[in-house]
Amino acid sequence: MEQMSSPFSTIIPTCTCASSPFDHPKADIILRSSDRVDFRVFKLFLALASPLFETMFELPQPAAVGTSDDTKDGLPVISMQENSKILDTFLRFCYPSTLAEDPSLDNLIDIKAIIGVAKKYSLNLIERRVCQALASPKVLEAEPLRCFAIARNARLTDETIVAARYTLRQPLIPTCLPEIDMITASDLLALLTYHKKCSVAAASSLANLDWMTNYYSNPSGCNWLLDTRQADFRGKLPDPPCRCARSDKAKFHLWKSAPFSWWTTYMEETFELLRDTPSGDVVRSEVEKTIQKVRDVGCTTCSAHVKEKMEEFSNLLALNVDKATASIKLEIDRDFRILPPVMGLGNYKLTIPLPFFGQK
Ligand SMILES: [Zn+2]
Repeated sequence: MEQMSSPFSTIIPTCTCASSPFDHPKADIILRSSDRVDFRVFKLFLALASPLFETMFELPQPAAVGTSDDTKDGLPVISMQENSKILDTFLRFCYPSTLAEDPSLDNLIDIKAIIGVAKKYSLNLIERRVCQALASPKVLEAEPLRCFAIARNARLTDETIVAARYTLRQPLIPTCLPEIDMITASDLLALLTYHKKCSVAAASSLANLDWMTNYYSNPSGCNWLLDTRQADFRGKLPDPPCRCARSDKAKFHLWKSAPFSWWTTYMEETFELLRDTPSGDVVRSEVEKTIQKVRDVGCTTCSAHVKEKMEEFSNLLALNVDKATASIKLEIDRDFRILPPVMGLGNYKLTIPLPFFGQK
């Protein structure tokens, strides 16, 4: 008898099997990724990691016979919305470390995806672990603004505040933010206001140089900047002589003495940068240029100690700037959007809306 094929029938692509340890012959359930990779896993590990999985496994399972969309090799199959890469990463977090090492999370795409999954399946331990990755200096230094958007979107308050602080190293108005849709206009306004207040706070270190005079105690402590050595009675300068120009700007005078112009230029250029990037790291990053300039001028006296003295000074200034901005608070509302998960019980498929990341 000739079989009629439905005009609506589609060819279902075959499934591949995940790599070890998710290919275990004695596994008791199969999680099928959106790109049709079957992960043979043990329910116990998932139930221990996630209350949502625990609840799901307590529900009646489909009859374990034959191979259908719901069963395979006699095991129930759960179709997941995540692709195999994400599924592999979060299952490794669920498994004991003796069986699967925690995957490294060193890029924002993985971190973003795993935070979403962790929240979706109430994987609290994993969420904490991913938060640590989001707060790692390596990730924050590379992409502070994206970290801010991801942390804020996931309502991770501490991580949001830390990321906001790292954004101070970058200009106030970002050139590009792929995650712009993850935050609200209020969040962005809060960040811009924070940035602006930090700029004002950083500028206070220029308006008042008491922190400097307190640190160096007296003019001789600042000899590298003021050169208080006196000319002798014939007007001969001490050896080796320093003929570097002095600044005539009164606001830079220390103990009523005029410092070298190369230093006031450093201060003016650095504080100009701090207006847009109020971070101590900017101060440190600028110092090398000044050291090189002094050496290029060829003053033997200043060149001899400019590196040591300016590095010490820039650290002092950087600490002052960071201290000034540390008192500024990021004014974000600390609400928590808790959306109740919805489970599709009939076909054993998880149909929980992803509240944060808009994945399909
Ligand atoms: Zn000099």
